[in-house]
Amino acid sequence: MDAKSWLRKALGRGVKSPQRKSLPDGVWLKCDGCAAIIYRNELMRNLWVCPRCGQHMKVGAAEYVALLTDDGFEEEIAAGLISADPLKFKDSKSYKDRVKAATAKTGLEDAVVAGSASIDGVSVALAVMDFNFIGGSMGSVVGEKVARTMRAGLERGLPVVIVSRSGGARMQEGILSLMQMAKTAAMAARLREARIPFLSVLTHPTTAGVMASYASLGDVIISEPGALLGFAGPRVIRDTIKQELPEGFQSAEFFLEHGMIDLIVPRTKMRETVGRVLRHLAAPAPVAGE
Ligand SMILES: [Zn+2]
Repeated sequence: MDAKSWLRKALGRGVKSPQRKSLPDGVWLKCDGCAAIIYRNELMRNLWVCPRCGQHMKVGAAEYVALLTDDGFEEEIAAGLISADPLKFKDSKSYKDRVKAATAKTGLEDAVVAGSASIDGVSVALAVMDFNFIGGSMGSVVGEKVARTMRAGLERGLPVVIVSRSGGARMQEGILSLMQMAKTAAMAARLREARIPFLSVLTHPTTAGVMASYASLGDVIISEPGALLGFAGPRVIRDTIKQELPEGFQSAEFFLEHGMIDLIVPRTKMRETVGRVLRHLAAPAPVAGE
């Protein structure tokens, strides 16, 4: 399947809005932020940002690719990778069945899609995560696809853009999922050595093993407003350091104030901002005196 028909198919399956279950096939949807009832088409036109309160609703990977790129994927990267089940893991359900169910629900092979694309006229290697696939967790497939996206950037001299949305490492793959942190971080270091720009886009939520590896290693790190960002949950941190945590801690705004990220950009401005930042990074260094 070529990349365009893949995108059409994935979009056709519908990127599930958070309210889809409670309001099946609804023409009207309720905003999580302000509880306003909004016409579905109006929300879609506004890229799933509430026009009343600015709440950024979760969207799937296919939809994010559509809103961020000029014309979807030109060519997929590392398509066809599917999780093995090396630990034969089983909790309330076997890991194999969990992956199958996630594929049926999302139409995706795993929690990330990747391809070459153009963003505001700039050619990039792009990977976008999907939270609907087992909480956007990073197992071997996600790690490998992110690493191969970076490698494509390295080999083709394209800037790399990774849009994260993840609950962290995929515990059903145990240590193998943690090893993806090292693999992707090593690839980010190779990009840096080759002076290939790497832009990390954080969306709600980006946490744990993903935040602690490639998501926080971008040359420029941009977040959507209101995103939950962090490593461990607040209760774990409080119990470990035995201190009360500051107000608003683990929000994109708190991260910006403390220098952990570079920009907060609303989704409706994301494409042009990513394009502008990439053009800046690609520009030759100014000559002194100019
Ligand atoms: Zn709202």
